[in-house]
Amino acid sequence: MATTQRDYYEILGVSRDASDDDIKKAFRRLAQQWHPDVSTDSAADARFKEINEAYQVLSDPQRRQAYDLFGRAGVGTGAEGFGPFGGFQGFGDIFDAFFGASAPGAARRGRPPVGADLRYDLRITFDEAMQGTEKEIEFTSLVRCETCTGSGAEAGSAPVTCPQCGGSGEVRAVRQTMLGQMVTAAACPRCAGQGRIIERPCPTCRGDGRQERKRRLRVAVPAGIDEGHQIRLSGEGEAGARGGPFGNLYVVVHVAAHPSLRRDGTELFYRLELSLAQAALGATVTVPSAEGEEKVEIRAGTQPGTEIRLRGKGAPYLRRSGSRGDLHVLVDVRVPTRLSKRQRELLEAFAAESGEGDEARPDAGLLGKVRGRRR
Ligand code: ZN
Repeated sequence: MATTQRDYYEILGVSRDASDDDIKKAFRRLAQQWHPDVSTDSAADARFKEINEAYQVLSDPQRRQAYDLFGRAGVGTGAEGFGPFGGFQGFGDIFDAFFGASAPGAARRGRPPVGADLRYDLRITFDEAMQGTEKEIEFTSLVRCETCTGSGAEAGSAPVTCPQCGGSGEVRAVRQTMLGQMVTAAACPRCAGQGRIIERPCPTCRGDGRQERKRRLRVAVPAGIDEGHQIRLSGEGEAGARGGPFGNLYVVVHVAAHPSLRRDGTELFYRLELSLAQAALGATVTVPSAEGEEKVEIRAGTQPGTEIRLRGKGAPYLRRSGSRGDLHVLVDVRVPTRLSKRQRELLEAFAAESGEGDEARPDAGLLGKVRGRRR
């Protein structure tokens, strides 16, 4: 074994009064830099051994104290206590020490993958959104293979434990280095991390465990649903390969616009056009609402811009069954653009009665006066 005589504190680049935490951080940083599987430097093996040796001593309070008092002689560097990785236990510990977490994807190794989520765009009418509805949808999806019930193996056979990784889905490469044994892990190349292999694949799905099928589902659409809302149907997505769990189905709802009602959440808005006479004299009119139609009393003398609020006649609240928002009726008054001779006479008489005199006659209006001056 090559001997190095550098000071352990110097090797880790920390001061003699460094805290345990500082030592740990320094080690992790250096280990990531000099790990022989990461570094391409030819000196990496030796550097890493040195770093590890320093860390083994300085991270142990008793050995650190002995080192502080007696130097290397006090901690007996060499064989004892310096097996592959001193105080480390299993492989997981080593990985944790180096990278602070498990290898990416390690948690999922050895288990079949989850199927994909699916999206279905469902179009409904305005009335269906107001009342709630149930719709049958049809779509193509990957389902469990009927021949092998999802295992991917031919009838009479079954997937077997991968002989290369022993079912763990991981392979550990053990190398001899100056330090001792060096262990690394990767997804098993034989089973692609599945832990099981299919020796005789199912002829229907070729080992995937899935096949495409048309599916039909009934979807309950609650009253009050709005444009863009999603309904999640758990486990109705694609099947996972080789018997893996199903993904989810997301039904995205699209609500057709109403020809004359505008919707904002639970509030509905309607622009009501009244004639001059209706606004002045009052009337009973019919307006569209969430439930179809609604009769509205217009009081005599209603002004343009008036808002009539019909409480509880708007769209339903999604999560409060029975409650609804309001219907806002915005009043506009239509001024006639073409008058019959009789209508004109009546309006002139109306103007005269209101004391508007000559100004009611078109030629005597503002425009007429301007023209008069020009002449
Ligand atoms: Zn199959």
